[in-house]
Amino acid sequence: MDQFAPPAADLLEETGLDPADWQRLRALGHRMLDDMFDDMAGLREGAVWRPMPGAARAALGDALPLEPQAPEAVYADFQRLVRPYATGNRHPRFMGWVHGGGTPIGMLAEMLAAGLNANLGGRDHAPIAVERQVIAWAAAMLGLPADASGVLVTGTSIANFIGVVVARTAMLGRGVRADGLQGAPLVAYASQAAHGCLPRAMDMAGLGMAALRMIGCDARGRIDVAALAARIAEDRAAGCIPFLVAGTAGTVDIGAVDNLAALAALCAREKLWFHVDGAFGAMAMLSPALRPMLDGIEAADSVAFDFHKWAQVPYDAGCILVREASRQSDAFAAEAAYLAREKRGLAGGHPWPCDFGPDLSRGFRALKVWMTLKTYGADRLGQVVAQCCALAAALAARVADEPELELLAPVGLNIVCFRYRPDGAMAAADLDRLNADIVVELHESGAFAPSTTRIGGRLAIRAAIVNHRTIEDDVMALADAVLATGRRLRT
Ligand SMILES: *Cc1c(COP(=O)(O)O)cnc(C)c1O
Repeated sequence: MDQFAPPAADLLEETGLDPADWQRLRALGHRMLDDMFDDMAGLREGAVWRPMPGAARAALGDALPLEPQAPEAVYADFQRLVRPYATGNRHPRFMGWVHGGGTPIGMLAEMLAAGLNANLGGRDHAPIAVERQVIAWAAAMLGLPADASGVLVTGTSIANFIGVVVARTAMLGRGVRADGLQGAPLVAYASQAAHGCLPRAMDMAGLGMAALRMIGCDARGRIDVAALAARIAEDRAAGCIPFLVAGTAGTVDIGAVDNLAALAALCAREKLWFHVDGAFGAMAMLSPALRPMLDGIEAADSVAFDFHKWAQVPYDAGCILVREASRQSDAFAAEAAYLAREKRGLAGGHPWPCDFGPDLSRGFRALKVWMTLKTYGADRLGQVVAQCCALAAALAARVADEPELELLAPVGLNIVCFRYRPDGAMAAADLDRLNADIVVELHESGAFAPSTTRIGGRLAIRAAIVNHRTIEDDVMALADAVLATGRRLRT
């Protein structure tokens, strides 16, 4: 326990868990807030990521506490064991995977939401009205009808899962909820570049991963629409029941955007559910310059995307939108005596969010989205998206200029896949190992956090520019560091 912490009991009421001394907790709360503002303001000066020291790891193995501790001491543990060793995605030189950077406004909203401790499963209260407004704004952002339904969820993985379940119920009717598939051979389609959570959604929905046909891509990483049409015909001829096409707006590897308009037309012709996984790419709709790339998204039956990636809302905040609200409630609404609806009173206000997804109790994620959209405005967020794409283009140009760097995929949006390739012959496996080692070295140096992927069998260094704090200096410094580290590791 640190020296300024008085005995824990001072802070606790005899009954309940509120403090006897609100002044003392208030002081601690203000200190936490100041510390975290300082932490955020100083991000650039610190390491992107640091491995947890053994002592910190060991301390997080302590047994269940039975006795109370002073909150000051608990906070000291947070400062010592947790804060310095977080993911690093707030840092401008974090370019790994596709992680949003978060904002101080989002942090404050999280605190306010926790203060209200609202349960957004249902009933009639303002937090649900806030979530409904967020859903309406999301529909406006993506060009879906104003009366589209939706809910906020943990992320696009669950949003895609909900999309699959809604499409299944739309194809087979509500009876499938009671009776199961009864052997109906449902099949769905996505490109080989689709995110791994789509096959998993098929798995979790009981349809089986093999029932997701992974269609090949063109040179720019977009689904081959002719091959898709051929596969649908083949499946129908074989007695299967095609029900869903999932287009991707922003593939996880290289940021490619499927030809959504062509997919929409195909789905209309074939009477298939058109779902779009726009986990990060959907936010390109906020930029007038990028919006045309997503033409056709407005025709989707459902769209899954994240506010926690390119819209910079703190984790977690995913969203599923469904064009026709009744389709979504058909798949999830259920009656239960303890969830009885009333015309008036707190039990009014239906339909409830629990009618649109698998969650009953739900937190107030909507507040941080609502405050983010109101504080920055959709246009400013769109400028951040465009700025990330401009930085990716600048990095790609630099890679093209450097004889020892090689671009491995076209840059559609904000992701640059490249590698270090020194002069002289080098076995493919050695080149892969070298590039993987470069990335690990960069992580451990604390200077940069790119990730890796495989492009055409070759290991690529992958820089996904998602953070609103990243500037041109950062991407150029990444190129410098890859060159320097590659040269050093070679010798
Ligand atoms: C990140 C991502 C997902 C998964 O989203 P989560 O929010 O991590 O669940 C799905 N699809 C694509 C294209 C993604 O980039």
